[in-house]
Amino acid sequence: MNSTVDDRTPHPPASGRVTLHRGDITTDAAADAIVNAANSTLLGGGGVDGAIHRAAGPALLAECRQLGGCIAGDAKVTGAGRLPVDRVIHTVGPVWRGGGAGEAALLASCYRCSIEVADTAGCAVVAFPAISCGVYGYPLEEAAAVATAAVQAALAAHPRVREVRFWLFGDAAYSAFERALHRPIG
Ligand code: ADP
Repeated sequence: MNSTVDDRTPHPPASGRVTLHRGDITTDAAADAIVNAANSTLLGGGGVDGAIHRAAGPALLAECRQLGGCIAGDAKVTGAGRLPVDRVIHTVGPVWRGGGAGEAALLASCYRCSIEVADTAGCAVVAFPAISCGVYGYPLEEAAAVATAAVQAALAAHPRVREVRFWLFGDAAYSAFERALHRPIG
């Protein structure tokens, strides 16, 4: 097993469950949809995008070519090729420019739109990577706070989405999300 599930209840209680996992998001056979931290072309890239396209195979890229790209903060859905889920939801995070360029609103929008798209597609369990926390340079602590707040709000608005599963690469990312999830709000 390369994943650890943290089942402590977030505070305040969310209407859906949020769980944390270590490792490679492409191995998540318990999700209905995997969210890809894509770039605006949706034609593949490095990091988690590369891992998702490698694991899914060429059918995913063929579908992405039909989508005409995606703007930062938005999300689009495809099938999942060879991945062990039904759907891939492609979202484009903001590039970190110091925090004064609307990054937090765009990052929150990625999580909110992805959960909206998941609900519309009938996906109840959704796996997310730490969007923008790789080459896009978003600081982990700030990203984790935005991500967990946005997801909890979106789960409350979309009760058919039962669980969000955050997949974190490395101890620093896992710890940042764990702290953010269990931080009292207010
Ligand atoms: P972005 O361009 O949005 O910053 P990256 O793919 O560079 O996207 O990184 C986003 C996050 O995903 C980073 O924290 C990175 O460590 C992590 N990551 C990279 N590969 C995987 C993977 N296979 N599974 C889960 N997380 C991954």
